Amino acid sequence: MNRIEIMEGDITRCKTDAIVNAAHTSLLGGGGVDGAIHRAAGPSLLEECRTLNGCATGDAKITRGYQLPARHVIHTVGPVWRDGAHGEHAALASCYRRCFDLAVQHGLRSIAFPAISAGAYRFPLDAACRIAVEETAHFLARHPHFERVILVAFNAEALAAFQSALQQISHPPPP
Ligand code: ADP
Repeated sequence: MNRIEIMEGDITRCKTDAIVNAAHTSLLGGGGVDGAIHRAAGPSLLEECRTLNGCATGDAKITRGYQLPARHVIHTVGPVWRDGAHGEHAALASCYRRCFDLAVQHGLRSIAFPAISAGAYRFPLDAACRIAVEETAHFLARHPHFERVILVAFNAEALAAFQSALQQISHPPPP
């Protein structure tokens, strides 16, 4: 568990091997964390993204990080929240798994995630953070040499949601 770090701040400042972008299926940029990452990385990121032919919901694709402190960006497309009965939970879990798959395939040892889908895509924050923490814990248990996963909260509310999800997984309530 001490390889999971939760911090409040701007993911574009993270010096991890990769940062994750909560992207749109086109991979051609957008608002929120996507806009911030493209602004900080510079125009070469969009040029590389244009060659990728988009990305399906629940999947992920990797690029270089260009002017970012992180060496790579892993772009994943979270589900748009409808009512929770349209596979949203499974799709969000799949985003985390696909990002971890790519990190392993590229020999990366550290990665930072935003709260995927919890912004414009309206996934309920507590549930989104719980999925992030569960998938991270599951991955780290199977990858003892992976150094660090940072879950980046953009505000105090997201910070509290990540912390409470981590607390629940570390100290589950008695049956
Ligand atoms: P989505 O469309 O997947 O919901 P958003 O970018 O709208 O993506 O929001 C995802 C999460 O990223 C939200 O919790 C939002 O507050 C957060 N966020 C926005 N900008 C940043 C940033 N620069 N660093 C970290 N998190 C960010």
